[in-house]
Amino acid sequence: MSTIEHWIGGEFTAGASTRRGPVFNPATGEQQHEVVLGSAADVDHAVATAKAAFEEWSQASLSKRTKVLFNFRELVNGRVKELAELISDEHGKVLSDAAGEVQRGLEVIEFACGIPQLLKGDYSDQASTGVDVFSFREPLGVCAGITPFNFPAMVPMWMYPVAIACGNTFLLKPSERDPSASNYVAQLWRAAGLPDGVFTVVHGDKEVVDAILRHPDIAAVSFVGSTPIARYIHERAGATGKRVQALGGAKNHAIVLPDADLDFAAQHLTAAAFGSAGERCMAISAAVAVGGAGDALMDLVSRKAAEVVVGPGRDPRSEMGPVVTAAAKERIESLIGTGEQQGAKLLVDGRGLRVAGHENGFFVGPTVIDQVQPTMDVYTEEIFGPVLSVVRADDVDTAIDLINSNPYGNGTAIFTSSGEAARRFQRGVQVGMIGINVPIPVPMAYYSFGGWKDSLFGDRHIHGPEGVSFYTRGKVVTSRWPHVSHASGASLHFPTAS
Ligand code: NAD
Repeated sequence: MSTIEHWIGGEFTAGASTRRGPVFNPATGEQQHEVVLGSAADVDHAVATAKAAFEEWSQASLSKRTKVLFNFRELVNGRVKELAELISDEHGKVLSDAAGEVQRGLEVIEFACGIPQLLKGDYSDQASTGVDVFSFREPLGVCAGITPFNFPAMVPMWMYPVAIACGNTFLLKPSERDPSASNYVAQLWRAAGLPDGVFTVVHGDKEVVDAILRHPDIAAVSFVGSTPIARYIHERAGATGKRVQALGGAKNHAIVLPDADLDFAAQHLTAAAFGSAGERCMAISAAVAVGGAGDALMDLVSRKAAEVVVGPGRDPRSEMGPVVTAAAKERIESLIGTGEQQGAKLLVDGRGLRVAGHENGFFVGPTVIDQVQPTMDVYTEEIFGPVLSVVRADDVDTAIDLINSNPYGNGTAIFTSSGEAARRFQRGVQVGMIGINVPIPVPMAYYSFGGWKDSLFGDRHIHGPEGVSFYTRGKVVTSRWPHVSHASGASLHFPTAS
């Protein structure tokens, strides 16, 4: 069993802590690695290295930074298969889905390759007589990222390509459940020509996170994970004067109107609810069947859910892999039971699924629960597993009200053939990312990603233009080069004439 170590200053190190955590293969249920769980001393060491590297990297020319970014893009693009295998072995998702995750991360790297264009400032000639005004943006310093288990490559890639392209150095604290992809990427950065210390990985749990939040030399924190931790990060990092963006959990609803193509909607609902075993922050976990659509839709969804091929992520026949840990499996199965006890109707039950040859894997089958009421636990909890809860609503306005009453506001979708209903929906829902006949409306890298309400704390979404803004701060210069004969006439008052 190998030990997964920190990456600090261009080398692997076990650091100061003796604590270790297990890394499982969810498809077999076996522990395959241990990961070092760092301490405050490890964070101090990493930040000191990153701070020293900032001196040089923040002064590197735009063309030098761009060259490194392009090299990195090429290296990641050439290693999609290797990265996908690492992800699948520790997270459990199927290889094609893991490769898709790397692809979405690559798109952010490609966006960051255009950093010279993105950092261009404004210039106002002759703002006053003989006076010009211009603006530009500078990096912040050492930035930190704290990321969840469910996208071990893509979510960190929402952060560090943009932060580093902007001239910052970056300390990543990945999820301790699937830490290997981050170490792999660290070596690709080095091969791309990134100076040592610009990209650092410190593994660990709450101890490392708290040390990051306290550290006076960390300027900004980006977090993605569950809502209670996002709220905590936002409060703690804000209290120590850091810039912070903290993306939280989700309960994404898809409304299906009676005028929708029901077969199309059922296919997409099935994929969006059960892809990656429902462990996506943009998974559809609640369907709202409006009016007469309900019964026919439930027949179609139940049939398609039962057909999903569940198996180990490495098997190309598998459409859905296991969930991440034994504890996650237990929690999901217990919530399904609670749904039944509270009166919902279990149409497809994924509990107790056994995959031949992988009897100890953390598998839960696709589950469809109909007649869910908004007070039931399966509706109020973020289950984060392959469970689709279905609520019935009389009309589109009731469905929109239901979405707006939910504390989360990450993503939502509508299936309809009515442009009028779609427009009412897009204007009426209090949600950050909206799909119209698109079930998982993840914006492209050149837009920014982020939810509303309890799905995001902080005022800037992640990557895209808002990412560039998050990782830089503005300067505005008002400049005059007076001719000798004009060098008099200074006044104590604000100017009233130009
Ligand atoms: P999590 O909140 O348990 O962990 C996220 C990170 O926080 C990890 O690095 C973890 O080590 C750290 N952490 C955990 N507990 C902590 C504590 N008590 N104090 C300090 N740090 C702590 O989330 P997860 O289970 O890894 O990921 C799943 C969650 O992430 C879901 O809620 C999902 O919706 C959310 N998510 C949201 C988005 C989004 O864009 N909004 C994207 C992906 C995942």
